[in-house]
Amino acid sequence: MVEIKSVGVVGGGQMGSGIAQLAAVNGLDVWLHDSDSAALNKALKSISNNIQRLISKGKLNKEKGDDSLRRLRCASSLEDFHSVDIVIEAIVESEDVKKKLFAHLDKTVKGSAILASNTSSISITRLASATIRSSQVIGMHFMNPPPIMKLVEIVRGADTSDDTFNTTKCLAERFGKTIICSQDFSGFIVNRILMPMINEAFHALYTGVATMEDIDTGMKLGTNHPMGPLELADFIGLDVCLSIMKVLHAGLGDSKYAPCPLLVQYVDAGRLGRKRGIGVYNYS
Ligand code: NAD
Repeated sequence: MVEIKSVGVVGGGQMGSGIAQLAAVNGLDVWLHDSDSAALNKALKSISNNIQRLISKGKLNKEKGDDSLRRLRCASSLEDFHSVDIVIEAIVESEDVKKKLFAHLDKTVKGSAILASNTSSISITRLASATIRSSQVIGMHFMNPPPIMKLVEIVRGADTSDDTFNTTKCLAERFGKTIICSQDFSGFIVNRILMPMINEAFHALYTGVATMEDIDTGMKLGTNHPMGPLELADFIGLDVCLSIMKVLHAGLGDSKYAPCPLLVQYVDAGRLGRKRGIGVYNYS
């Protein structure tokens, strides 16, 4: 088992920036890449603000915080990842785009490096098939926001080796996370259960069962969830929710997973949730 000392994170959106922060605070050298330079700058700013906030609240010692920021570097291209021990991919939830990235990474990173995906739902076995290192490909599914949420869902593809699994598990534990292991089926454990609930909340709104506020209040106070399903969908990103429902629908072959037309319409309208200032709710 290799000791992980450096990580390349691809995708600097809500998940990638959180994963990069977590890795830097836990002593790893981090390279962060995003194909959109504005997203990359935004990620670096948000990580720096979060670390300063942790320092000012006394939750992180200043020396450790400053050291974390020094170890976090921007990668202008994937070629900067040539010496990292593991890559954690957190780009758009699209099998085609992720496969292209994995094929590229396979040619770019050193032979011993692990390629991990933060995918919410896509088959790890199929992502691994884009590489010639399928034994070193694994699902490492963080929850949102990664620095705070305690869980990492680990998903082994058909060829993932014990060594890759053990190294990834150790890394997640070093980040202070509790691990669950899922077989490689669409949506794994968490989203197999969560997304149909969110989709059903959209159906309830779509068919006029109740207002969005009452649906959310019902689930918060009625089932003790910290956020209502529609509020949570806005937090996750409606585009991400829709992509996951499509993967569940295609992968599990049951019409019960068909995305609600209202969810589709909101995404078509660019109402992607908090990150766009409007989703089910308006945040402006
Ligand atoms: P996001 O839209 O916030 O960020 C995605 C980032 O990836 C963007 O900055 C985009 O510019 C970048 N990107 C897209 N294609 C790229 C490419 N080819 N190369 C480099 N960068 C690229 O999305 P997110 O919410 O951070 O989700 C990212 C991944 O994490 C998805 O696979 C998603 O399913 C998964 N995930 C999301 C959540 C959530 O709550 N949002 C939770 C767990 C896992």
